Amino acid sequence: MEEVIIIPLGTVSPYPTLTNNCPGFLVKYKDTKILLDCGSGITKYLNFPNDLNNLNVIITHLHKDHYSDISSIQYAAYVYHNLNLLPQKVKVLLPFLPNYLDIVNTKESFCEYEEIINDKTYEIDDLKITFHDNSSHSIPSFMVKIASGKEKMVYTSDIGSINLKDAIEFCRNTDLLICESSLLKKDNPACNYHLTAYEAALIAREAQVKKLVLTHFWPEERKENYEKEAKTVFENTIVAEEGQKLLLRR
Ligand SMILES: [Zn+2]
Ligand SMILES: [Zn+2]
Repeated sequence: MEEVIIIPLGTVSPYPTLTNNCPGFLVKYKDTKILLDCGSGITKYLNFPNDLNNLNVIITHLHKDHYSDISSIQYAAYVYHNLNLLPQKVKVLLPFLPNYLDIVNTKESFCEYEEIINDKTYEIDDLKITFHDNSSHSIPSFMVKIASGKEKMVYTSDIGSINLKDAIEFCRNTDLLICESSLLKKDNPACNYHLTAYEAALIAREAQVKKLVLTHFWPEERKENYEKEAKTVFENTIVAEEGQKLLLRR
């Protein structure tokens, strides 16, 4: 069976640094590539024009830290298509919600767009992609589940803490859970639009996932502090690092 490889391209928010980018995860399966979010700086890790071929971009929600590099992808696709190096349009799945037209109406671009519908399952190659918004972030934001046969991964993108039960159901029995942990317990507890590392670990434990990967960190905070907090609840936890290779396996 073909392996699903997941490479973190961006792990921090709200701004990129010299070594860390805003959110992005590249999923590779056979010849297909799925880019989960394209935050600031992630194109540094892409191989142009090759990675534009068979590329599907998923924008989970319309916060700039998750989509600002779509303009680089659109323009690169336009340029390489004009050079006859890119025959097929880049596919972009995104919520058709206020300000999406700013993305879709970009002129010098070689992309096609499809709307993300809540709880709908899409097929890319023979992967099944399901989206779910549990209405816990400050704007609609879709968790993404990718299933390859019996193997499943979930990328939560940005979710808050007000609907954890629903998040647990969506993540149940996944092999790999890439979960946001924007906060530590010591951070402002009044912000419930994001999760603490502790809450991410609670989801992993209650949903009985195999492995938890934390992401969406403050650029100023040491990543090991998130890992330490999560491991008090769920031992098989790592922090996402740009360029590392993760495998979806039972
Ligand atoms: Zn957000
Ligand atoms: Zn974010």
